[in-house]
Amino acid sequence: MTEEHLLKGWEEFEAGAILYSFDGSSHHINNSIQHSVADWRAEKPVFNEEHCIHCQFCWVYCPDTSIISKDKQFDHIDYVHCKGCGICVDVCPTNPKSLVMFTEQTTNDEAIRNWPAKDTKKDA
Ligand code: SF4
Ligand code: SF4
Repeated sequence: MTEEHLLKGWEEFEAGAILYSFDGSSHHINNSIQHSVADWRAEKPVFNEEHCIHCQFCWVYCPDTSIISKDKQFDHIDYVHCKGCGICVDVCPTNPKSLVMFTEQTTNDEAIRNWPAKDTKKDA
């Protein structure tokens, strides 16, 4: 590793420490865009637009670039590459959360219907 490499600014690094970004370049042999990790999941994050404030925390912290935003607005979850770690749910600041983990078998419509209520103890 060169000294110049050590001085790289954080904004110059691509997403992920080892894998290259999903730009489709054929020379990026470590690119994982063609490999799904969906079957790693026992639970999946579900998004509820009703509560989202578009803070982008989930987008910043997702280790798999699986939160897809457009124009700085939450757009969707890339379920092909999401491994179900739950970090996006942990960092979501709304009450109730705008992302909640549900079992893989739960449909997203069922999840929305069973969304947790606001935690009133947090506001006390
Ligand atoms: S569960 Fe993990 S991998 Fe999936 S979207 Fe959330 S932070 Fe990303
Ligand atoms: S962290 Fe929560 S509130 Fe912020 S953009 Fe993501 S889903 Fe929306």
